[in-house]
Amino acid sequence: MSTTNVYVGLGSNQGDREGHLVAALEALSRIDAVAVLRCSSLFDSAPVGPPQPRYLNAVVELECGLPPSRLLTILQRIEQDLGRRREGVRWGPRPIDLDILLWDDEVVAEPNLQVPHLELHKRRFALEPLVELAPDLKHPVLGATVRELLTGLAPQDVRRLSANVWPEASPLVNES
Ligand code: ATP
Ligand code: MG
Ligand code: MG
Repeated sequence: MSTTNVYVGLGSNQGDREGHLVAALEALSRIDAVAVLRCSSLFDSAPVGPPQPRYLNAVVELECGLPPSRLLTILQRIEQDLGRRREGVRWGPRPIDLDILLWDDEVVAEPNLQVPHLELHKRRFALEPLVELAPDLKHPVLGATVRELLTGLAPQDVRRLSANVWPEASPLVNES
């Protein structure tokens, strides 16, 4: 089976933010055909959208043997299991958000799935952790590396945290 390196962005701003990120990571690592390769640091970020609590964000690097649409379904099930409900406002508060940011150098354009994530290049809370993991990754549509995209971005309130909450078995960035 061929596998692909995939980058998933995690965000939480409701309830136990750290607990939700860790629970999502554990759920991902339990999936056959998915291996968690590395985790970024945690970032505390000002919310985008309506007024709401600050977010805790991170990015994880996965090796994935599933097609993108299948991984999306799994991510949505994990979101649901962690209490995500979808009747709220767009970009409203949520216990967990799991977005596929990059799928190797592939472009996915399906009605319910666009990869690279359409907002990736505008979001410091996604680019900062991604650059920690893989600064030289190229955005397959824009042609720039993720480091270059981050450099060109206006300042946003995103603060890297020094605390490590990931389970011991999850290799952290800089430790692999
Ligand atoms: P944003 O996508 O701007 O970060 P959001 O994460 O809050 O907003 P959701 O409510 O989680 O948005 O998802 C809305 C829809 O986005 C989902 O139903 C899903 O089909 C679609 N979607 C499209 N591309 C992606 C992607 N790359 N990763 C995750 N969901 C995606
Ligand atoms: Mg999102
Ligand atoms: Mg989402």
